[in-house]
Amino acid sequence: MSNFVVPNRIFDPEAECMPSGERVKMQIAGLRRTVEQAKKIPFYRRKFDKSGIAPESIKSLEDLQQLPFTTKQDLRDAYPFGFFAVPRAELARLHASSGTTGKPTFVGYTQKDLEIWSGLCARFLVAGGLTADQIVQVSFGYGLFTGGFGLHSGIERVGASVLPASSGNTQRQIMLLEDVKIDTLICTPSYALNLAENITAMGKKGKLALRYAHLGGEPWTEEMRLGIEEELGIRAFNNYGLSEIIGPGVSGECAVRCGMHIQEDQFMVECLNPETLEPVADGEQGELVITSLNKEACPIIRYRTRDLAYLDSSPCECGRTTKRMSRIRGRSDDMMIIRGVNVFPTQIEEALLRVDGTAPHFMIELTRPGNLDEAAIKVEIRPQDFSDKMEAMHKMRDRIGREVTAITGLHFNIELVEPNTLERFTGKAKRVFDNRKLND
Ligand SMILES: [Zn+2]
Repeated sequence: MSNFVVPNRIFDPEAECMPSGERVKMQIAGLRRTVEQAKKIPFYRRKFDKSGIAPESIKSLEDLQQLPFTTKQDLRDAYPFGFFAVPRAELARLHASSGTTGKPTFVGYTQKDLEIWSGLCARFLVAGGLTADQIVQVSFGYGLFTGGFGLHSGIERVGASVLPASSGNTQRQIMLLEDVKIDTLICTPSYALNLAENITAMGKKGKLALRYAHLGGEPWTEEMRLGIEEELGIRAFNNYGLSEIIGPGVSGECAVRCGMHIQEDQFMVECLNPETLEPVADGEQGELVITSLNKEACPIIRYRTRDLAYLDSSPCECGRTTKRMSRIRGRSDDMMIIRGVNVFPTQIEEALLRVDGTAPHFMIELTRPGNLDEAAIKVEIRPQDFSDKMEAMHKMRDRIGREVTAITGLHFNIELVEPNTLERFTGKAKRVFDNRKLND
């Protein structure tokens, strides 16, 4: 049943199937516009002044390589609004992504930015089977995270109807899927697998109307896709985006499913060796570095995503003329994605610093015993604080758990270990042991 053919539909043929020569001209104009807009941001203005960059400096796409990189740290240093290029009155919406500490990174959108964004979500939704007569259940959280509202607007743009279920409460999600006869589901891949398992356990396998899923927000494997498709009898599509760039909609799969088409009229995506920052060849894995071409509120130049993937410029049967990117195959830093939430080891460190008696030695272990991520932290106790009294130790453990949840928003299993039992590192500490098998 899950092998039914998905019709090849294109939401915006003019943009998605544009002849490449025409697209290059558009991208050069977009880069100039972005440099012009980015001058309003002190970080970029300083960099441009130093190296003498002006919009007119951009004469070819290769000139992108003269432009400065932007890192998550740069965005954080400018907290909260240092990377906004428009006055507050021109903002139409704010979102945020989690940072490496308790503070989020804000992103802003003008009305025009929101229109572009919803169009980009509409492109991958239509590519993956969405039509105006469908009802879509959005089981992403609605909030600061860009997933919920981003997809919501994209669905409306296609003319389909949205059921904004938001995240959590699996039994209720399944009731909605069944009673509303939902056609398309939107959530993270691990949550889709979790729903599938519950649906099977409830004896409802094969009894839902569900036909499509658009899954994103965390890396997943082809094996996981096949599992979800088989269990739910659907076709599941992958899409990619990140809030620092715009949210979901940077790229997404077509019906052919041989990589995700990059929306190249809106973004320049480079694939670079993360050490040398030199471009790698097509098919070779590197770090994705993304530049926006049309954003007003938060134009971004050469953002180092730390996501590892490869690019493919070969033609696609679907008729789109854009480059494709592979699924995300890993990270070039130590960020973890746990149940769709970005978490950095430094956040755990910060939580531990708030609790007296814990040494700065800890280890994070990620597993996926069923379909959902489990996260555990082993924390070493300082010798002078180590106690044989269970009660004192339990109190400390609970306190750590609360602090970690306060910073990350996630529950971790906390285990206290005796002084000097965790491995010591001479170089960079290896804090994270990811046993979830995310790579293909
Ligand atoms: Zn295609």
